[in-house]
Amino acid sequence: MKRLPGKLLTTLSLSAIAIAALVLVAHVSLARQSSSQAAKLPAAMEPVPAVTSFVEEHAHFDEKDPTGAVRSAVAALGRENASMIVFQISPDTFEHPGRYDTEIILSEVKKHPGKLAITGGGGSLNAMIMKSVATGDAGPEVRKEFKARAEELLREGVIGFGEMTAEHFDGFTPYQAAPPDHPLFLLLADLAAEHNVPIDLHMEAVPQDMPLPADLKSPPNASRLHANIAAFERLLAHNPRAKVIWAHLGSDFTGFRTVELDRRLLLGHPNLYMEIKTDPDAHGKTYPLGFDGKIKSDWLKLFTDFPDRFVIGSDQHYPEPKDADKRWQETILLFNQLPADVRKKIGTENVAAIYGNSVASFLRAAKN
Ligand SMILES: [Zn+2]
Ligand SMILES: [Zn+2]
Repeated sequence: MKRLPGKLLTTLSLSAIAIAALVLVAHVSLARQSSSQAAKLPAAMEPVPAVTSFVEEHAHFDEKDPTGAVRSAVAALGRENASMIVFQISPDTFEHPGRYDTEIILSEVKKHPGKLAITGGGGSLNAMIMKSVATGDAGPEVRKEFKARAEELLREGVIGFGEMTAEHFDGFTPYQAAPPDHPLFLLLADLAAEHNVPIDLHMEAVPQDMPLPADLKSPPNASRLHANIAAFERLLAHNPRAKVIWAHLGSDFTGFRTVELDRRLLLGHPNLYMEIKTDPDAHGKTYPLGFDGKIKSDWLKLFTDFPDRFVIGSDQHYPEPKDADKRWQETILLFNQLPADVRKKIGTENVAAIYGNSVASFLRAAKN
């Protein structure tokens, strides 16, 4: 109720207020409703699709049921007005018993060209980096093995390297950290540039060494976090032809991924792109949406000042978990507020530019 403007309150009867509240809740912030509540909403309160089509550039899948996950993602396209969904592989370590990579779902994804695509390396290349950090060995043999695995993934048909990480809090996968300018990250940038595929990077922003934020637990997380922004800039500068997508804008758990930082990095590094993710169940500490569901003015200015540098990457899992709100929905409620020309770029054109023909040819074909 607190989202209703005061003026409206004085002029509406109680029943009208109730209806207005329902409409507001459904259309402005339906994604904040628990799924059990959402299930009780009338049919007219169905989730809100994107007003113009978009590519969901960062999604995940249930690795125990790849067939069901693919079926669920394909079924979601129309409901969301998504033209394509790109699956990412969660960044993982070799220590994690449930570790997997692209191969677990690849054959299913390939049955839906132009609708689904997939990156690779989260379960292998990323794990190799974490292992190298732990052992201190980034020598010729390790590099050779890393390159061979990256090239194998490319031969199999991945359209990018992801989801990689340089600072990842404990969650679906364990706590992980690596310097973004680690020799294997630099090698990955060279491979990405050579093959014209992007790197998708999950990295909490840590401008300076700092203790773990007080709302997080250690263990499982490290008690101290190492500065990573300067090293991230070295990665970006190492090979300017390597496109790096910094994942999860809006899902910032250190509080340092500010408009100012994003702006400075976008200005300084033309090969840097960012994914917008707004999770209704876990607002980042620098969240682009206000309590009224509207884009905050400084974030809107960032999106409109750099319209070529953002994509939609909501981090939605398929099948959509029943006990969690829909990340895609909240992200699309943000997307729908963008000016039409900016929305077109962030929705489809930027993804086509970043990924090249593995995405662009399908988007062109869909238009004709
Ligand atoms: Zn992530
Ligand atoms: Zn992810």
